[in-house]
Amino acid sequence: MIECEQGQRVGAYHDGELPEASRAEVERHLRECPVCAAELRRLRRLSDLMRAAGGAEMPGEVLARLHQSVDMQPKITMLHVAEVFVAAAASILLVSCVWLWRISAAGADSGQIPLWETAAVAPQDPSAVASQEQLAQWIVHDLSRENGHD
Ligand SMILES: [Zn+2]
Repeated sequence: MIECEQGQRVGAYHDGELPEASRAEVERHLRECPVCAAELRRLRRLSDLMRAAGGAEMPGEVLARLHQSVDMQPKITMLHVAEVFVAAAASILLVSCVWLWRISAAGADSGQIPLWETAAVAPQDPSAVASQEQLAQWIVHDLSRENGHD
């Protein structure tokens, strides 16, 4: 398609945005330039279609239905996407928590994973930490008592 440098002014002319002097210039140009004349015809046809689709002559109910079907759809889709995204993020978090918990539980059951490794992976449990410290104190106490006996 052949472009014309006056093309943008044709759009402004069609929208009634040009001052009187410029309008006369564009009208003169339109008589000489088939590209801009075609562009103006295209714009007029387009605005006719838009008036026909969303014109004020339409009954309110039909217009409302039209707006619903055209306007609401993207909003619902965006909301739906957001909900799905949040749900997916939540379930990923849940799955990884269960996965970690299962790893630590399996390690504790089978006894193949050292206690310190299980404690490092498992969620921090204050009572477990306390009992480990107590266990260490008992061991130290035991050893020192044995040493004392010796
Ligand atoms: Zn032109």
